[in-house]
Amino acid sequence: MKIDYQSIGLKVGLEIHRQLDTRCKLFCECPTEFVDGGREIRFVRWLREAQSELGEVDPAAIFEARKRRKIVYHADTLNTCLVEMDEEPPHDLNREAVEVGLVTALLMNAKPVDEIHVMRKIVIDGSNTTGFQRTCVIALGGEIIVDGKKIPIQTITIEEDAARIIERKPHEIHYDLRRLGIPLIEISTAPVINSPREAYRVAYAIGRLLRATGKVKRGIGTVRQDLNISIRDGALIEIKGVQELDLLPKVVELEVIRQLHLLKIRDELKKRGVTEQMISEEPIKDVTEIFKKTRSRILRRKIDSGGRVLALRLRKFGGLLGLEAAPGIRLGAEFAGRARAWSEVEGIFHTDELPGYGITEAEVRRLKDFMEAGELDAVIIVADEKSKAEDALQRVKERAIEALRGVPSETRAARSDGTTIYLRPRPGAARMYPETDIPPYPISREYLEELKRRLPPTLDEVAESLSRKYGLSKQIANELIDLEKVELFERIVSETGVKPRVAASILAEHMKSLKREGFNVELVGDSDLFEISKLIAGGEIAKEAAPEIIKWLSKNPGKSVRDALDALNLRPVDMSEVEKKIDELIKRYKSMIEENPRKASSVIMGELMKIYRGRIDGGKLYQMVRERIHGQGGGS
Ligand SMILES: [Zn+2]
Repeated sequence: MKIDYQSIGLKVGLEIHRQLDTRCKLFCECPTEFVDGGREIRFVRWLREAQSELGEVDPAAIFEARKRRKIVYHADTLNTCLVEMDEEPPHDLNREAVEVGLVTALLMNAKPVDEIHVMRKIVIDGSNTTGFQRTCVIALGGEIIVDGKKIPIQTITIEEDAARIIERKPHEIHYDLRRLGIPLIEISTAPVINSPREAYRVAYAIGRLLRATGKVKRGIGTVRQDLNISIRDGALIEIKGVQELDLLPKVVELEVIRQLHLLKIRDELKKRGVTEQMISEEPIKDVTEIFKKTRSRILRRKIDSGGRVLALRLRKFGGLLGLEAAPGIRLGAEFAGRARAWSEVEGIFHTDELPGYGITEAEVRRLKDFMEAGELDAVIIVADEKSKAEDALQRVKERAIEALRGVPSETRAARSDGTTIYLRPRPGAARMYPETDIPPYPISREYLEELKRRLPPTLDEVAESLSRKYGLSKQIANELIDLEKVELFERIVSETGVKPRVAASILAEHMKSLKREGFNVELVGDSDLFEISKLIAGGEIAKEAAPEIIKWLSKNPGKSVRDALDALNLRPVDMSEVEKKIDELIKRYKSMIEENPRKASSVIMGELMKIYRGRIDGGKLYQMVRERIHGQGGGS
């Protein structure tokens, strides 16, 4: 679908969370890099109704508190302590983390606060043992320039990472406590981003700026990007947890498609004359009888374990539930997502998708008859414990009413294909209150001045000096930086004597393009790249052989560069062996040499190339042959 993002008024704001590579966690002395060999500790807590200390209950908190769940925490003696277990108050705020926050603020021209106040943000899904996440604003304001456009930064915050979810069962949830307390920096931009591509560019620029501090972690799970997205007439949607930078544009595009689709459905429902009253007056009916002999596996299982099948008619919704704007983007999916999140039901179907899932046409006909559903009407069925099924259909009713209004504002979770799923209602304003266990942390003017004096260069500045020093293009210098290969590059150039451009093209261009072609280049280690460069510098292999060796190594984990040379028949050539071979051939073609030296040398070259192709320069070989022939023939 081609979308004109300007005309629909797209506004995107980003919240980038990145783990800091500090020595200790934010409020205790546990390490931020996993340490092996600790004794495992497991303990259980029950999710309890949490109320903010301001006395108001938060909508997101109510959502979680409905679920009575057993929470199992996995900890150990080396990566967690009593602080993560909430058995001991937090220790002092980590100075190293605060400094990374301040350096980032200065690099973005933001205004650091005079005094840092740690706050508690209610999070009661169990990912924090305390029921809240500790967070503190480090700086306000600031900006970053991306492709010539000024992107205002709203806040720079340092907060503690949450526990990592290991397993989710219906009434039990397992968390790994080792991640809890790792410092995170959070950068939030103003909602001024106007296209999917720009969302990517801004996130990329922020990532580069953060890396200039030299104190952020890299790799899977160290970055999480949240977005808020709205279009004109739509609603503010918060999308949580995009892990891959490359996925950002897709998430934005699909969210726009989803909101446009919901607006289209709203208009259609109005045209059909649907009213809120029509929806809210619909009764929920028990239709278990109709499915007594069903062959639908999920319905069967629910009925056999004492559950009921309940149904709700939605007048004039027919055809709109199954209508798909993009794969997975349907009103039916919205209803199911809402019902699943709130009521944790499994079996939910609507008539637009039936017959199907083992439910027969005859069953659908009986269902529609019983519900007095006409051609334009839809029926939703839910199979589960009676109270859960009833609750789920109430949620569907609420969501159906919202469909009449357009796009409901909510928090959604990103999935790996770029689509999103309903997560919970958006949190209210009463979500934060002060952390009383930690005193305010003043930031002195002198300290800020000192930080300003030793501000690290930005990566643009690093690229600039790299390209000047080694005669590289700016683009390849930037690639070396993005791939984190600068250090290796400098070591290779100084220790092997290979030409800087050759080393840069191996480390950046080849590795990048081979990765794009699908080779597992992560398996090729720095020491392999070093050795390949050394062989090129010593003239033992041609530089053209480098990509072949990298390809081979990426397909043969655990093997060495020497193994690759053997397998690819690229072993360095012993020159005395070559000379012996030439002598042998000259002897064999002696008469031809005497008759037609020109023809003889080309025949001999052909024989030699069969053996040495790619391992020795052809021109050099030819010269050797000529010299030998001349020596033999006594001149010509
Ligand atoms: Zn700890």
